[in-house]
Amino acid sequence: EKTQKTEKTVVKTENNIVTATDIKVNVSIPEAAERAAQTGADGVGLLRIEHLVLGLNRHPQSYAEKGEQEEFIRELENGIRKVADEFYPKPVWIRTLDAPTDEFRSLEGGDREPEEHNPMLGFRGIRRDLKYTEIFEMQIKAIKKLIEKGYTNLGLMLPLIQHPKEVKQAKEMMKEHNLDLEKIDFGIMVETPAASLIIEDIIKEDIDFISFGTNDLTQYTLAVDRNNERVSGNYDERHPAVLKLIERVIEKCNEADVKTSICGQAGSYPDIVDRLVNMGITSVSANIDSVREIRKTVAKKEKQMLLDSIRK
Ligand code: PEP
Ligand code: MG
Repeated sequence: EKTQKTEKTVVKTENNIVTATDIKVNVSIPEAAERAAQTGADGVGLLRIEHLVLGLNRHPQSYAEKGEQEEFIRELENGIRKVADEFYPKPVWIRTLDAPTDEFRSLEGGDREPEEHNPMLGFRGIRRDLKYTEIFEMQIKAIKKLIEKGYTNLGLMLPLIQHPKEVKQAKEMMKEHNLDLEKIDFGIMVETPAASLIIEDIIKEDIDFISFGTNDLTQYTLAVDRNNERVSGNYDERHPAVLKLIERVIEKCNEADVKTSICGQAGSYPDIVDRLVNMGITSVSANIDSVREIRKTVAKKEKQMLLDSIRK
């Protein structure tokens, strides 16, 4: 059964600031859920599960090989549940496991991971989900268990999508495992230029929302390794090419009634968020420490836009 929440006063919004654009929060470890909820955020726009999984210190594939899937599923379920409880009934969008090969290698059983020249261009995100299907299955099963326990506030999003066929294939796998997509929000991360340029074809796969992963979108658009300090001067989320891709996606999604969000670092920068609201983004997910400031930024922008439209 869903954990009954005890009486807890959660600060709704600071100074009762209400925004039409939802302001959500990014959560990377379940232990941060309470602090994240206290920001008054309207939900979790990105629940990363990499820390939860890598923290087990054992390669997820090895659970499957030894027939110990249940143990892995339980760990995932418990971690996600902490966050889902804290925010219930507000939405929590869980992202499937997205760690590159180099981060898996240090785990017990991690020697199975190949050495890659460019881990950021390698075997990560949806690519891993579709190839190591056992790991994807365990994630699907953990979410299914939570749905069965009454959680109606879950979402699932797929990282690193660059073609509609990846979405199609992932959906087929979810159906095979009887994950009822009607009971969750289903979305993808837009973090490749490819996805941005053919988003109209990708959303035909029946998607509820997209979320911009601007950390990767910037890295791939500008050909700048986000982990390479020598080229960090070339890394710029405000580059016109990045903003142009984002604007195109918001436009196409708004036409098709698909929700748009952002969960990359840029969602915590007021000047960028100001522009995203202007473009018509549906929600913004910021880091815990930025939620309040971003809500103020958005409220101010919305008010200005409203006044502009009245006075026009
Ligand atoms: C992003 O790419 O912007 C993102 C949110 O995902 P990550 O930083 O985990 O790659
Ligand atoms: Mg990313």
